[in-house]
Parts: sequence; structure tokens; C-alpha cells
Amino acid sequence: MQEVFKFGGASVKDVASIKNVGDIVRDYFDKNSQGNLVLIVSAMGKVTNQLEGIYHAYTQQENLVDLWNAFKTDHYEVVSELCKETGPVIKALNEHFAKVEKVFSLKPVRNEAFLYDQIVSIGEVLSTTLVSAYLNEVGLENKWVDVKNCVKTDNRYREANVNWPLTEKAIRKVFSQIEEPIKVTQGFLGATPENFTTTLGREGSDYSAAIFSFCLNAKKMTVWKDVPGMLRGDP
Ligand code: ASP
Ligand code: MG
Repeated sequence: MQEVFKFGGASVKDVASIKNVGDIVRDYFDKNSQGNLVLIVSAMGKVTNQLEGIYHAYTQQENLVDLWNAFKTDHYEVVSELCKETGPVIKALNEHFAKVEKVFSLKPVRNEAFLYDQIVSIGEVLSTTLVSAYLNEVGLENKWVDVKNCVKTDNRYREANVNWPLTEKAIRKVFSQIEEPIKVTQGFLGATPENFTTTLGREGSDYSAAIFSFCLNAKKMTVWKDVPGMLRGDP
């Protein structure tokens, strides 16, 4: 039976926090050798706010290059501190960056909510890439799961509604094909029937954790909080 752990932005805000996630996961498997974990992860720290700034820079066509380069640099720095083998992780990040850069090459004339979701959603894609790579490196074998194959929504960008029957079917199917005892996926995101990314509304990752818990009939869902001084406490 699956257990769902949700890590919000504060719980993955920097290298030390991501390593702490590793400690929490290791503790869990020390106590549950046959365990099965689903990690629902938010964007790092204030990354979603940063991405909203980048989205505005894009719609106003000003200062975009500087903000975007700084954003990429922040993520490269995390990789170099977090991972021993940085090459494959940088390559994965660059592929995700390139998708957003393709959006930037479009004129921001219409479909603003659509464009917002295509840009802002990258925060969770990047954070889960980092968490998954780190866990694998420290021997916590896991599979990075694209939430777009799992959470199915309508086309209401920025506040998408979950299509429950499709989502339940999709999550069960995807998870039945994964052997790794740990799955790492993105909070806050879903996909339209045309497979464009949607977001579920700000602070939507708790909701994502509930969606997975329900659809997998999870034994337990834990929302980890970054409590100063007791980083490993289960509140
Ligand atoms: N990263 C998103 C936000 O900041 C979703 C979440 O953290 O729950 O709103
Ligand atoms: Mg949050």
C-alpha cells in the first residue's frame, strides 16, 4: 500500500532542505522495509513567485532575459552543490528550460492564462528533477513521474478542474507499471485532454497530494512542514 508524502516549497528551498528530504525518506524505509512512497513536491522556496515575475516580464516584454538567466543560474548552482554527477541532471534541466524558451518565442498576445501555466509550471518540474536525481544518487531508488500522465483536467488554465474518473484511471495505470518503491511527482500541475500543462491554483500542491492519496487509496498522507529547529518532525 502506498503512502503519500507532500513536501512544500519551504521543505525543498535549498540544498540542505533537499538533503533533509532524503533523510526523511531514508527514515521511512528504515522503519518500513516493504514500504511504498509517493512524493508530491512543490517548486523550491519562492520559485513560483519568481516565475510569476518572469511571466509578467514576458507579457510586458521587458527585463525577461535577465530574470530568466538568473533563474537558470539559481538552479544550476543547486545542482552543483547537490549532485556528484551533475552532467545528466544539467542536461535534464536544460531540456525543461528549452520548453519554456519556446514559449518565450511566441508573442504574448492571447491566451494569457494558457501561457502563464506553460511558464509557471516549470518550477515543480525542476524541483522534482532535482529531488529525484539526489535520491537516486544516495541509493534511494525512485522513478520521476510526469504528473501530466496522471492528473487529468479541463482547459481552465490557472484554476483547472480535475476530471476525477480519468485521473483515477490514469494514476492507477501509471503506478501499476512502476517497480521502484519511490515515485517522485509534481504538485500543483495537471494536463488538459490535449496534453497541455495546467495549474490547479496557487498553493495547489496539498490538493495534488489529496488527489494521489484518494486515487491510490493510500494508507496515509503526510504533509511535511519545514519547522525551524525540528526539521524532521512529523507534525
Ligand atoms: N508552487 C505552488 C505555489 O507556490 C504550489 C504549492 O506550493 O502548493 O503556489
Ligand atoms: Mg507552498
